[in-house]
Amino acid sequence: MRGGPQVVVKPHRHEGVFIAKGKDDALVTLNLVPGESVYGEKRIAVDDADGKKEYRVWNPFRSKIAAAILGGVENIYIKPGLKVLYLGAASGTTVSHVSDILGPEGVCYAVEFSQRSGRDLINVAKKRTNIVTIIEDARYPNRYRMLVGMVDVLFADVAQPDQARILALNASTFLKNDGHFVISIKANCIDSTATPEAVFDREVRKLQQENFKPLEKITLEPYERDHAVVIGKYRPSKKQSKKEES
Ligand code: SAM
Repeated sequence: MRGGPQVVVKPHRHEGVFIAKGKDDALVTLNLVPGESVYGEKRIAVDDADGKKEYRVWNPFRSKIAAAILGGVENIYIKPGLKVLYLGAASGTTVSHVSDILGPEGVCYAVEFSQRSGRDLINVAKKRTNIVTIIEDARYPNRYRMLVGMVDVLFADVAQPDQARILALNASTFLKNDGHFVISIKANCIDSTATPEAVFDREVRKLQQENFKPLEKITLEPYERDHAVVIGKYRPSKKQSKKEES
């Protein structure tokens, strides 16, 4: 789809994310592989003073990070040039947008244990050279430690009852001190008998016990029911926290 003169693309306050302003505003990322869609999403070509560019529409009903951004989250910490470890990559829908945000200087290590989703993910990564596909169980980070360096951000969307433990195992192996985590919590995957709020609170406490410092929690309505995203810092150093407070 051509953006035409009626579509203007502006940077979002989250670096690497953009808004296409037209009849309906849309969240978009700059396509790392122009001419290619990943999951049938619309592409918008824009020819402005900086030259020709192509953006991909980021659907908040298909991606929890997009839902959190549209929900007004303060900071997602996923930025151009960083290294991100992504647990629960599925077919690569959200991973592809993370790959756009990170750009050619960044790396997204994408872990998925389903062989079926993994096949789609491998195909996405064939064209996106900043994605390293890892078909493994995220409960065993030692199995992929030779493939992954230290990362700036750890994202988890595994929808498992023991996801806090999975996050902790991976953080202690790969996440820098003062690095950031983003975790998506699907309440009924953890406990379908408690209220979603009670489940979110319990998960936040588990994270605190594992040396994660939650900074922000956001629920994902109207895009996802009974889901929350919690974002924060890992092993915060006193020096760094003081610097940020001042
Ligand atoms: N993040 C994806 C997106 O936005 O496109 C959707 C992820 S889906 C909710 C959860 C995924 O986590 C599934 O594909 C599932 O196979 C994967 N998963 C669950 N447990 C896992 C584990 N222990 N190790 C690796 N992947 C896991």
